[in-house]
Parts: sequence; structure tokens; C-alpha cells
Amino acid sequence: MKIGVLSIQGAISEHFKLLTMCGVEAVPVKNTQNLAAVNGLIIPGGESTTIGKLIEVAGLSMPIKERTKNNTLALFGTCAGMVLMAKEVLDGIDNQPILGLMNTRVKRNAFGRQRESFETSFEFKGIEGSLSGVFIRAPLIEEAGEEVEILSKLNEGIIAARQGNLLATSFHPELTEDHRIHHYFVKMCENISCRLC
Ligand code: GLN
Repeated sequence: MKIGVLSIQGAISEHFKLLTMCGVEAVPVKNTQNLAAVNGLIIPGGESTTIGKLIEVAGLSMPIKERTKNNTLALFGTCAGMVLMAKEVLDGIDNQPILGLMNTRVKRNAFGRQRESFETSFEFKGIEGSLSGVFIRAPLIEEAGEEVEILSKLNEGIIAARQGNLLATSFHPELTEDHRIHHYFVKMCENISCRLC
């Protein structure tokens, strides 16, 4: 099984490290050919406005939408990735390109600016013990539909959620040495059967 990391912009290499720690083959995804070879894809943190535009330019937007809808691709968005996966984005730019896959309303930069970045620990449903993550201009899920399972909260705000084959976190788990959330995603990818990979 191969898991891709969208390698267009953002915090990329750390995801490779944690996926490798999980014992899976991690490959960079830059184009539709790369995408066709993976069961799962991580959309890293970075700048959602830029990543959104570049996904469209690379022709990746359509196949990501189609394959997540017909359950032949699992998707994990961290930070900017969470923004891109939401159906509704607050404080986005005009006509911000998004994938619009998860039934969530996400507020960008909900924790303040870059200099207000922080690391903290929290509980995560399905994982034992506490976890920590790094919040950098992090988004927050303000509202989630019934089909969305809330996995983690910080001060009552939703910071991690799952909807079937879609997983999103406000924070960067890849900036820690803890690979348990990546392992959780690897398990999700094992339920995906894709024709080519
Ligand atoms: N605030 C950024 C955005 O909306 C996300 C920041 C991040 O990914 N660390 O794109």
C-alpha cells in the first residue's frame, strides 16, 4: 500500500518521516499520475489559498473529489488541508478554491497569527493517552454535520474530525515525533480498494 503526500507547498517532509515510521511506503504526489498510484493522500499544512490554486492547476482537484466520493481514496488534511476539505470556509479570500468535501464549517486562522503559534496536548478519540500537536495559524471546525465524527476538542473547539474516508486536524501532528495519528490514517487507508494501486 502506498500513501501519497501532496508535494506542492507546505510542511511536506515531516509527513514522509512519520509515514515511514508507520511502516508504509510514502510517495510524493505532484500530478494525476502520482495520485493514481496511492490509496491515501495527505494534504499538508501551508497556505490553503495557494495550495487550493495549485491543486487546480495540477488537475488534481477533480480526481481527488471523485475518488474520495467513490471511496477509492482516503484523505487526511492537516491545518491548511482541513480548510481545503471543508464545505464552507470562514475568513477565506474571495472565490478561494476549496475541495469542499467534509460537512464542516471551518474558520481560518482561528487561533491568531504566526507569533501566537503553540504546542499543546489533548485527547483524541480512538487513540489511548494524550497526544500533542503544533498549532500554526490553525483553523477550527465551527460547525460539523451529523455524519462528521468529532475526534478531538480543545477548549470546546473542534480540532480533529472524521467523515468516513476523510480525516482533518487543525494542528500539525507531523511536527512532533508521535506517529499515532498517522497510524490511525494508515488504518483508514487499508479499507480503501483502488484499482491501480
Ligand atoms: N492559516 C493557513 C491557511 O488558511 C493554514 C496554516 C497552516 O497550515 N499552518 O491556509
